Parts: sequence; C-alpha cells; structure tokens
Amino acid sequence: MTQFDQLGLSQPVLQALDLKGYSTPTPIQEQAIPPVLEGRDLLGIAQTGTGKTAAFMLPAIDRLRASDNNIPFKSCRMLVLAPTRELAMQIAASAKDYGALAGLKVQAIVGGTSVNKDRNKLHRGTDILIATPGRLLDLIDQKAFNLSAVEVLVLDEADQMLDLGFIHALRRINQLVPKERQTLFFSATMPKAIKELVSNYCRNPVQVSVTPESTTAERIDQYLFMVQKDEKQALLDLILAGRHDIPGDLERVLIFTRTKHGADRVVKKLRQRGIDSNAIHGNKSQPQRQRALDEFRRGKTQILIATDVAARGIDIPGVSHVINYELPNVPEQYVHRIGRTARAGKDGVAIAFCGEDERAYLKDIRKVTGAELDRLDLPENFRAVVEGVGPTKPEVRGATRVSKKKVRPKPAGRPTGDGSGKPKKPGGKHHARKGKPGGRPGGNRTRRDKGGAGGGGGGGRPRAANA
Ligand code: AMP
Repeated sequence: MTQFDQLGLSQPVLQALDLKGYSTPTPIQEQAIPPVLEGRDLLGIAQTGTGKTAAFMLPAIDRLRASDNNIPFKSCRMLVLAPTRELAMQIAASAKDYGALAGLKVQAIVGGTSVNKDRNKLHRGTDILIATPGRLLDLIDQKAFNLSAVEVLVLDEADQMLDLGFIHALRRINQLVPKERQTLFFSATMPKAIKELVSNYCRNPVQVSVTPESTTAERIDQYLFMVQKDEKQALLDLILAGRHDIPGDLERVLIFTRTKHGADRVVKKLRQRGIDSNAIHGNKSQPQRQRALDEFRRGKTQILIATDVAARGIDIPGVSHVINYELPNVPEQYVHRIGRTARAGKDGVAIAFCGEDERAYLKDIRKVTGAELDRLDLPENFRAVVEGVGPTKPEVRGATRVSKKKVRPKPAGRPTGDGSGKPKKPGGKHHARKGKPGGRPGGNRTRRDKGGAGGGGGGGRPRAANA
C-alpha cells in the first residue's frame, strides 16, 4: 500500500501528517498529490469526506515552498474558494495544521464577520487565503485586496458555489487571477455548467474521480418512508424515541429540511418533547452556526437540523443517520446530504421522508443519482400516535432514545474505519462490505450486499437505548 512518504512530499509536510497520525493516503490523495506536485492542473470529482482537502493542500504547500516567493502586499499566493463559511473555516483549520511546519501564513475571510477586521488582517498579505467568493469580492472592490500574486487557485465544492449563485463571482475572479497559475478544481457532481467552468479555469487538467458522478455513496443504507406531510413530525418523534426499527444506533442525527423556517419548526417541536437539538441555516449568525456545529461535533447535542446551504461541505465525524425530513428539490443535493454520514470509513444510514407532494422529487433523485432506497412501512399504530390517542403516545413524548443516551465523542478528524460503530441491521440484513484496511475515508467503495433488504417489517421493535 502506498504511504505518504512515497508521494514526493517534503519533510515538513510529512511531519505535519505524522503529527495528525495519518500514514496512508486516501485514494484521492494518492492520485492527486503526484500530478499537483508536478504543477499540473487538477479536476477532482469527489465529495467531502474523501480526504480531498489534504489532496490539494499538501502538494500546494510544497509548490509554495518550492517557489519561495515573499508574502505579497494585500494579496495571497494560494487562494482557496469555498461555498460556505463553515467549509472555509474547516479548510483553514486543515491548512494551518498542514502549513504550520512549512512556516506558511494562513488566513480565512468569510461573510457574516467584520469586513474591517478582514481588511486589516489582509493588509500585509498572506501565503494562503481561504475565502467565500462574496466576501473576497467585497474586499477586492474596496481595493483592500487583489489577486495579482496568486500562484495556486483552488475551487472547492464548485457545484455548490454555482447552486448558491456564485457564477458571476467566479467568472469575475477568473478574470482577476494571473493566467500563469495552477488551478485545482473540485466538485462532487459534474453538471454541464460545471464542465464549462472547468474549461474556463483549467488547462489540460488531470482528472481524478473517487465517487462516480451522481451516484450515492455505497456504504450508506438508504431507506424511504412514504408519509403525509403533517405526519412527518410524529414519525420523526417515533424514530428518535427508538420506536421504529431503524438500523443503527442514533448516535448523531443530521436532519435536513428545505427551508430555514422548516428547520426552526422541527427544533421547536423536538424541544417541546424534551429533545435537545439545534438548527443551522442562513438566518443564524455565524457564531450561532459555529456553536451549533461545535456542540454537535462534541456530542453535546445529538441532533442537528440543517438546510442544504448551511450544511454544505461540513465534515462532522460520526454522523450515524441522515434524515431527509423534506426531500431536496435538486436531486444532486440528495447525494450531498447523505454524504454527511458514512464518513471516514464508517457505514451510515440515510432515511427519506417523502410526502405526497414530493413524489416528483423522489423520482428525480432515483433517476439522477441512481439511489436505491428501501421502503419502510409506518408502524401499525402510527395513525393513533399521530392523533394522540394511541397507547404509544406517552412514550413517544418521553423521547428516551436520543435525549438520554450518553454520547462519547469520537476523536475529531480521525477516521476509525474499523467497522466499530457500524449500524446494526434489522434481522436478516447482512453486511458484506469487504474490509478496507486502515479505514481511510472515501475512495472506491465496495457495494454491500443488499440481501434481505426491505426492512421495516418489524416496525416498532423496541431497542436497547445503548445498544
Ligand atoms: P475531507 O474530505 O478533506 O473533508 O476529509 C475528511 C476527513 O478525513 C477529515 O476529517 C480529515 O482530517 C481526514 N483525513 C484526510 N486524509 C486522511 C488520511 N490520509 N488518513 C486519515 N484521515 C484522513
């Protein structure tokens, strides 16, 4: 198996990897690092969770070390564009870890914080800047920053940037960076608009792909409930209370809604039932979003409700379940959502709640992503629970499953990948994932045996709270 020291990286970078405890490159790192070190442009088709940050950061740091230029006034030598504040902050944290021993200065600028502070901190320039496109252009328009010294340009989650309406920003930025530069372009999906962008940004890029275009990660078991819109909350309560036979321990549950309002409503309802949860969405301030993420990461709250925009690219180890409380109207978004689980070599469970009004979304998701969702039945007494007259109502309100369970936080950022924490399957369902030693994140995953699928038959089988 290839080790990092066989890829041509410098000693300071190898030392930084050693400190992080990484010895074996992930597939995208193995494929991307050598050509990037040679100075080639790169097109990486990969989701977060595959180790792509290190795949571009490590060789880029060595490129910067090799060119050894001074830090430019009001500019940067490497620019990383990311769609959201959270992702930008996450990349900045990695860049600091990897770049510290190489002596590189790393800064991040994101919306929702003081522009004046950003202006001051960028005045003397930086080696590496991680930015969201909007804030970057604000500073450029104010003549507080320019892109004339950029040697390496990275676009991370380019498809998400387009979805967020950054196309004009990206076109402008392309005009402002020097023609002579290296471009590393990452996207989880490859719609036509992205292909066009690639052809404008990259020169003869080496293409590296670790998850086939528009397919869903294969270590994720995907389930589907057909459920009335006004019964979704009751179904969620039931699942969180452990009263439906959903596979796996609900260690960390990420719930998606389409709207900010919808996210707040779910939080409110859960709170009414004594279940602690937080929401992240565009109406929350940056510190609120960060706090919610931190609490979720640490396991202080086991449930996080998010809109697509807010959840983009965030890497939270140990998300056991993703619940699509409302289906996304953009099919590719489904891939992004469920990709929040099954990180770092683990398995994961994704559950979709499809209302009558969402059937067309479901059809698109299946068609575009090839997702295979096993239909689960609602429990027999479900109607009664919804109407509040059923025998299970008090227990559902008690919400024993999630709120009382102690979560032991796993070490952040360290894939365990040894199969521990693997969701348990309902009777008869059997995992046949061929083990991947080392438990590296991402990569070419082995399709698991779906034999005995269908599940749901035993709806409502109570489970040990700490199983
Ligand atoms: P990313 O796709 O860049 O968000 O990375 C996903 C997770 O994998 C992060 O928590 C990284 O710290 C971790 N990671 C990246 N590369 C490796 C590696 N070679 N070995 C183990 N873990 C890694």
